[in-house]
Amino acid sequence: MDIYAELGVRKIINAAGTYTMVGGSRMSERTLEAMAEAARSHVVIKELQSKAHRQIAEITRNEAAFITNGAACGLHITGAAAIARLHNRPHASLSPEQIAASEIIIHRAHRNPYDWGIKLLGAKLVEIGFPNTILPTTVTDLELAITENTAAIYYFMMPRGGWIAPGALSFDETVSVADRHGIPVIVDAAAQLPPVENLWRITERGASASVFSGGKDLKGPQASGLVVGKSKFLGWVEATAFPAYGVGRMFKVGREEIAGLWAAVNEYVATDHEARAAWSERWIASFRQKFSESNVVSVERVFPNEAGQPMAQMIVRFKTSKALAETISSYVLKRFSDGEPPIFTIAAGEDGMFVNPMTLRDEELEIIERRIMAIENELA
Ligand SMILES: *Cc1c(COP(=O)(O)O)cnc(C)c1O
Repeated sequence: MDIYAELGVRKIINAAGTYTMVGGSRMSERTLEAMAEAARSHVVIKELQSKAHRQIAEITRNEAAFITNGAACGLHITGAAAIARLHNRPHASLSPEQIAASEIIIHRAHRNPYDWGIKLLGAKLVEIGFPNTILPTTVTDLELAITENTAAIYYFMMPRGGWIAPGALSFDETVSVADRHGIPVIVDAAAQLPPVENLWRITERGASASVFSGGKDLKGPQASGLVVGKSKFLGWVEATAFPAYGVGRMFKVGREEIAGLWAAVNEYVATDHEARAAWSERWIASFRQKFSESNVVSVERVFPNEAGQPMAQMIVRFKTSKALAETISSYVLKRFSDGEPPIFTIAAGEDGMFVNPMTLRDEELEIIERRIMAIENELA
């Protein structure tokens, strides 16, 4: 059965990387099996959670772990847990006034479209600093923002560029202030895998909770996310999240996601990440070699990639003397997406596009190479 053919939906090649809008990543056969097996029987969800979370905590070298149904909702649930912790009572028992009086500190440089998970908590967002290099945030700015109502500090972990503007305190400075005041730091590290070490490094450096997407490079179920961190704080997460009633009940995590992410994390920590990076480098070298004599196509190696991950990717650039010159990337993107099979990627400036081996298989890279050659011939 081909479910997508039945639905009349095109299957595409994803050359862009772990972009959620095209399904992020692909699960391994073992992970798919784990989900199917989990779906076939009833279990007590709390028991499944406690066993799976314990094992994930151990293999990721954390005190505790919790599976959510995405990093975005992981941010919301950890935020709600921090508010419950501040008032030292279950989140569901808080009055709207108590929630509204709670405060979450965020750098202005860290505002981003995923912070709705924090905005929607109903707490007050206390912004600090400005997103620039002339007047960067100081430790005093953070100190002055802390009050007896501070529930957490939200920190966006990503190399500067992309979503992140300059101007924020470093993570270590943030944690040292937070520690002095006994305030939890919640880290959005959704796309910060690889490197696999981030599964433990961020908590080792002092995060109370760091939140990863399960549907990106972890190759778990699309609708899964992973929170790892300190056991005390994750106790509050556990009390707030599904299957508890209250806000957590809106973010139901199925036993399929729990089993699937458990299997995926096991595979991820056992993966030979060096071999994978070397495979990627070989493909990039081969593309560079193939087009080295071309008057139209040039291939550039980009490291780290645009998410700051230590995996090389390529930008394929097209030179043309035709009127197309200014819109060459939209022309090529269209030739990619209209061809058979359709190839999804994103523009890199006016004359290029990204080809990221991360989400590709050998046979797909071969198809992409042939498509580039066809476009090269058209433009020559
Ligand atoms: C992808 C992403 C998220 C959301 O992750 P989901 O697992 O899709 O909910 C949040 N923050 C950042 C920075 C991301 O890149």
